[in-house]
Amino acid sequence: MLTPTKKLLLKAQAGNYAVGAFNINNMEIAHAIMEAAEREAAPVICQTSEGSLAYAGMDMLLAIGRQLAVASKIPISLHLDHGKHPEVVKEAIRAGYQSVMYDGSAHPFARNVEITSEVVKLAHQGGVSVEAELGALSGIEDFVTVRQRDAHLTNPLQAREFVKKTRCDFLAIAIGTSHGAYKFTGRSKLDLLRLKEIRSRVSVPLVLHGASSVPKSLVKQVEKFGGDLGKPMGVSDRDLRQAVKNGICKVNTDTDVRLAFTAGIRKILKREPDEFDPRKLLAPAYEEMVAVIRWKIKLLGSSNKA
Ligand SMILES: [Zn+2]
Repeated sequence: MLTPTKKLLLKAQAGNYAVGAFNINNMEIAHAIMEAAEREAAPVICQTSEGSLAYAGMDMLLAIGRQLAVASKIPISLHLDHGKHPEVVKEAIRAGYQSVMYDGSAHPFARNVEITSEVVKLAHQGGVSVEAELGALSGIEDFVTVRQRDAHLTNPLQAREFVKKTRCDFLAIAIGTSHGAYKFTGRSKLDLLRLKEIRSRVSVPLVLHGASSVPKSLVKQVEKFGGDLGKPMGVSDRDLRQAVKNGICKVNTDTDVRLAFTAGIRKILKREPDEFDPRKLLAPAYEEMVAVIRWKIKLLGSSNKA
């Protein structure tokens, strides 16, 4: 059942859990997200990045998402992830997404405020909510000094001013996570104190990007069947639980689903060299994706919250 993202996230905020937001590129991934959400009785967000739109097209991905939503009683919303070009964001608002992200985090503060405010005005006219971003996503270990760290991670006072000025509905913050599978060279480490300070100053739901866990079992399976991923490292379960406990209401996960997909594909290609039916080749990938999404939903505390 298509449901406004804002409704999902305000409920999560009140209930102190987070809704999983998973990226879709094709039908199999979207299907796996929906099956996992059904089995966990969990609300869920399906999101498309500008990259996935270039790959499959906005109309195609929206049609897949809508079809899955009408066939289910699970509350689900369709969200534009990392809209960096205002034209794409405007197109998504018109096309019928429940929410959009405008990511102006690469701009200086004033410019980010300016463009985000314009996007928010337009989106709200169409009944669409907006996620905005403040701060740069990079691992804490990338900063040598405290000053460097403060310059990149989200500043709590600026966050308050930003939300007040832009009237955005949700805020993505930088507290030490980064995109992809190689987030930390040592231990997983998030700036939870900073999160608490932001939470005390900002009332809108907070969003964590770059929050994949990179499960060791999936990495091992990829490697067992011929893959070579180097030394990937994700956010620890403990850090993620603490982040949710301290106010994160939407957690973005893409890498874990990609790893699950790859682990499933590698396994069947190696084990059944004579198989060439795409449906059979994709079946194990599907099962791996459902499993990792269910696990993630449980970790975020959103099981049985549908
Ligand atoms: Zn992101």
